[in-house]
Amino acid sequence: MPVNLISTEDLSFCYNGTEVLRNISFAVKKGDYLGIVGPNGSGKSTLIKNILGILQPQKGSVYVFGEPLASFRQWAKIGYLPQRLSALNTYFPCTVKEIVNLGSGAKASMQNFDNILRLMGIEHLSSRLIGELSYGEQQRTMLARALTGNPDLLILDEPTAALDPETRENFYSLTHELNHNQGTTIILITHDTGVIGKYARQMIYLDKKIIFSGTFEDFCTSPEMTGFFGSGTQHIICHQHDRSNA
Ligand code: ADP
Repeated sequence: MPVNLISTEDLSFCYNGTEVLRNISFAVKKGDYLGIVGPNGSGKSTLIKNILGILQPQKGSVYVFGEPLASFRQWAKIGYLPQRLSALNTYFPCTVKEIVNLGSGAKASMQNFDNILRLMGIEHLSSRLIGELSYGEQQRTMLARALTGNPDLLILDEPTAALDPETRENFYSLTHELNHNQGTTIILITHDTGVIGKYARQMIYLDKKIIFSGTFEDFCTSPEMTGFFGSGTQHIICHQHDRSNA
């Protein structure tokens, strides 16, 4: 029986009395690659923050690696890249190498570390202070940090917004490799429909509540999704998926 790394039951959440999440129940199994899509402001980031305990769930329950959120302590098993890097104090006197190393715990090998710096295109920046870098370079540093600890679960909230096409492709290929070869479970929030089609096997469409949850194939043919995207868009997304599986 596959293990659920994340599950929620009837999770609801309000900001100052305004409901943002309503009765969310879903599960992510070990080895899944889940894409979460939905309009801006539909509650995707809020859902992730509830799962990670950054926001306190107000109604319903969250289980992480099978444990109730309140008693879960093994946070090193999870790599998280937030949508905004505001959590990063860019005046902190830390080099790129030091920041990436912070994510590694004892698990990363030197080869893995160098490989990730290279794939993220920040090898040449490794001795630079984080505050001196551009936003895109800071984001690549945080991506590298989330990857180096070999987390069992990687949660990525719009991870490639500031990346150039080559680094973006490197990054997504790496997530595919991790999922495929190492069994890393991945939750990806993105607007990049091409990427969703290429990599995610499970899909959730969120708009305060779950409008769709199921396999990518069912997502492509679901009548609800035809209403949201129009059949032309779906054809493009599904076509890319078919190609990647060919
Ligand atoms: P998404 O990630 O899908 O774009 P969010 O989860 O960021 O959506 O936001 C969902 C809704 O909650 C939006 O209407 C947003 O304006 C609101 N919201 C997000 N963060 C806060 C906050 N800290 N305080 C009040 N409202 C918020």
